[in-house]
Amino acid sequence: MRDPHFKYSTSVHISQPDMSVTKLRAAILVISETASKDPPTDKCIPALQSVFAELGNDQWEVSSTEIIPDSLIDIQKSIRSWTDGETFMNLIVTSGGTGFATKDVTPEAVTPLLDRQAPGLVHGMLSTSYAITPFALMARPVAGLRKNTLILTLPGSPKGAKENLEAVLKLLPHACVQAAGAASRPLHQGGIKRLEAEAGVFSESVSATSGHTHHHHRHHGHDHSHGHGGHGAPRPHTKPEEGPQSNDPSAGPTRRYRSSPYPMLAVDEALKIIAEQTPAPIVEEVSASIASVGSVLAADIKATESVPAFRASIVDGYAVKIPASGKFQKGTYPVALVSHAQAGDVQELKEGQIARITTGAPLPPGADAVVMVEDTVLKSQTEDGKEEKEIEILTEEIQSGENVREVGSDVKKDEIILRKGEGISAVGGEFGLLASVGTRSISVYKRPVVGVLSTGDEIIEHDRAGPLKLGEVRDTNRPTLLTAIRAQGFEAIDLGIVSDKPGALEDSLRMALLKVDVIITSGGVSMGELDLLKPTIERSLGGTIHFGRVNMKPGKPTTFATIPTKHSSPEPSTRTHKTIFSLPGNPASAVVTFHVFVLPSLHQQSGVSPVGLPRVTVVLEEDVKRDRGRLEYHRAVVGVKRDGLLYATSTGGQRSSRIGSFKGANALLCVGSGEGVLKKGEKVGALLMGKLGEFRQ
Ligand code: AMP
Ligand code: MG
Repeated sequence: MRDPHFKYSTSVHISQPDMSVTKLRAAILVISETASKDPPTDKCIPALQSVFAELGNDQWEVSSTEIIPDSLIDIQKSIRSWTDGETFMNLIVTSGGTGFATKDVTPEAVTPLLDRQAPGLVHGMLSTSYAITPFALMARPVAGLRKNTLILTLPGSPKGAKENLEAVLKLLPHACVQAAGAASRPLHQGGIKRLEAEAGVFSESVSATSGHTHHHHRHHGHDHSHGHGGHGAPRPHTKPEEGPQSNDPSAGPTRRYRSSPYPMLAVDEALKIIAEQTPAPIVEEVSASIASVGSVLAADIKATESVPAFRASIVDGYAVKIPASGKFQKGTYPVALVSHAQAGDVQELKEGQIARITTGAPLPPGADAVVMVEDTVLKSQTEDGKEEKEIEILTEEIQSGENVREVGSDVKKDEIILRKGEGISAVGGEFGLLASVGTRSISVYKRPVVGVLSTGDEIIEHDRAGPLKLGEVRDTNRPTLLTAIRAQGFEAIDLGIVSDKPGALEDSLRMALLKVDVIITSGGVSMGELDLLKPTIERSLGGTIHFGRVNMKPGKPTTFATIPTKHSSPEPSTRTHKTIFSLPGNPASAVVTFHVFVLPSLHQQSGVSPVGLPRVTVVLEEDVKRDRGRLEYHRAVVGVKRDGLLYATSTGGQRSSRIGSFKGANALLCVGSGEGVLKKGEKVGALLMGKLGEFRQ
């Protein structure tokens, strides 16, 4: 046996880097006449090392580097020393010598050494570079395996070498592990699936990174020799002829779109798309507990017991038996029995006797009605003075069944107590009803778990101590959105802050997709060259952007996308796709668009109807300016006045960066576009976000 193989299946545990575990070993071979004469001038090795360090998920160790001239013999010698020995490299990347000049011999040196070709990697690298410059086609890269080592020939320029390696690096651990000989048991037992998930690489990423969106046929078998197949988590949805509309981030600022290529939708159109693309609710059986408050029932619920389960007294008093004649006689009766509200047997009541009984206690068998204690007087007591002996009943107006709660008079066994579609509110009535009949398990719609992340290199934790450095901005959106989601009764997971560095967003979104049903991001959806959200969703995750601009204020760049999830999952409880809401970075915009767009989708996924915030009509307490072209969601305080009408006052400055516009706000006024102002006293629609207060008159 040569080097340890199986270790590699664990060496790619990137979510929790473990230094005790073997990393994949890489070698860099720079093939350049000039650099070999003056090694310090070489820029390729540091460029490639930084790719391994930044995008390698801590899986790689660059264990050897060499700089040699363009010599076929030298190239082969170096490569052999890394492939044929006891401790072989997992990956060799060469840089240089792949052009058309006569001195360029790298492909000629490498090709004869390869046992097996890997044209897919060549294609991936070429198409990535081609997206940047057509001159990419003037390179002659090769890729393939020699023994257990994968070899790639990268271009000679540091920039080109870096871009090419970036394009394929994430895919390589899988290939290298297989090439190392680990395509055996440990890997087959979910290993590759895990590898993919952990490396943030899902099937078909080759085409995704290359900017193409081929549709591959799916493989459900166990043949892991293909780079794509049955584990297919995210896969491109954009049709090739449509192509992604997002910027290609690798193309740099000069190539970015200078106006948004996304059509501007009306809010209603956007909401319609969200409704169409929101995954259907999933049914789950849960125990009837406090945790189910906020859920919507997915099936009718029948009472399994009656309430009350026994004939019970409604008052404190005396249970009596009405004689066969049907007429109760007033007079003095012996207290033969006592029935308290407690579990246990009660003796039979005979004619001519009465039983003292408390509220809620079971009627003794034979008793027909209860006389209230107020209609009686004590006649005699036991010798010790502790117990009643005889009672005089002062009334004869007593009917059979009087002051008795009959069995099932509140809820009858087998009656439907709650219907499919009804929610279990926090008020408590529905849960109380379930509790009263001993319901133990209920069928509800699963509430989606929502993950929230902020994007931006300038964003810092809101509670970081110390003064801000120039350019730093405290994360306002994430805490605000987490609060808003939880207040709406949904589980919210904090996904942290993600930098604008290439790859970081992709990695975070992939990890998030494993954990949550709905992702909310903020920032990075405007037109800046660092705004990576749209391209990452479309180009790297195979998602579909359904809209990228909405005619509203604030919130214009709101973006909505879906990403397909694994179809092969046998679990019926898995959603077929997940939704991503990429909200604008400005805090007020993020919170407005959460309420307008995200909430209806969360409601729909959890079976709540009608979806979204309730809409009411309010009277303006002051003039409100209109936007000429856009529907504006104006933050306001709405309260009730003595006349029973709702009145609204503005929270002041409505700039999208000003989160203070939400302070005290419980409503979003829906101010239609137009000239001038809406006058004090006019009526306008409003979405209610919070509880109504009472207005000072
Ligand atoms: P962007 O869309 O990323 O260009 O962001 C637009 C504006 O919102 C910029 O001024 C950002 O600094 C700001 N911003 C983005 N994310 C946040 C956040 N999480 N908290 C506060 N401000 C933010
Ligand atoms: Mg940003």
